[in-house]
Amino acid sequence: MSFIDRGIRSLLLTEIVKGMALTLSYMFRPKATIDYPAEKGPLSPRFRGEHALRRYPTGEERCIACKLCEAICPAQAITIEAEPRSDGSRRTTRYDIDMTKCIYCGFCQEACPVDAIVEGPNYEYATETREELFYNKEKLLENGEIWEREIAANIAADAPYR
Ligand code: SF4
Ligand code: SF4
Repeated sequence: MSFIDRGIRSLLLTEIVKGMALTLSYMFRPKATIDYPAEKGPLSPRFRGEHALRRYPTGEERCIACKLCEAICPAQAITIEAEPRSDGSRRTTRYDIDMTKCIYCGFCQEACPVDAIVEGPNYEYATETREELFYNKEKLLENGEIWEREIAANIAADAPYR
């Protein structure tokens, strides 16, 4: 750029005018940001958030203690203990997930033959201590109760693509 060109641009403040015009144009475009946490963005039915253990509508636990989820977990975050019940069915006596180890791969959910362990849509579960992220069976079942409606809807929405 010649000296004269630069001088004219400086005198007429063209760069500033261009910058201001660009800024002004963005004021009339749709916002790219949302007002979180008051507003929340859309989530895919395949979103892998906080874990939950589900029950059947009868209240019976879905989990049959097959331990496939424990075996497949690459982070070895799942610990299961089980014993047969008086009616002959196998049920877990302990189902722990160390959420500090979990890498949210979703393999546990994929491996489960009865859709018992799932990664639900909840992503707001930050804690102040590590200990709060050591989930036990009660906590996981409670998550299942809280999120069952959303989890069931997500599984149904994703079913045609599986
Ligand atoms: S999401 Fe992956 S890492 Fe986390 S508990 Fe399930 S299998 Fe393990
Ligand atoms: S959650 Fe599913 S995969 Fe894991 S032990 Fe229970 S039934 Fe088996």
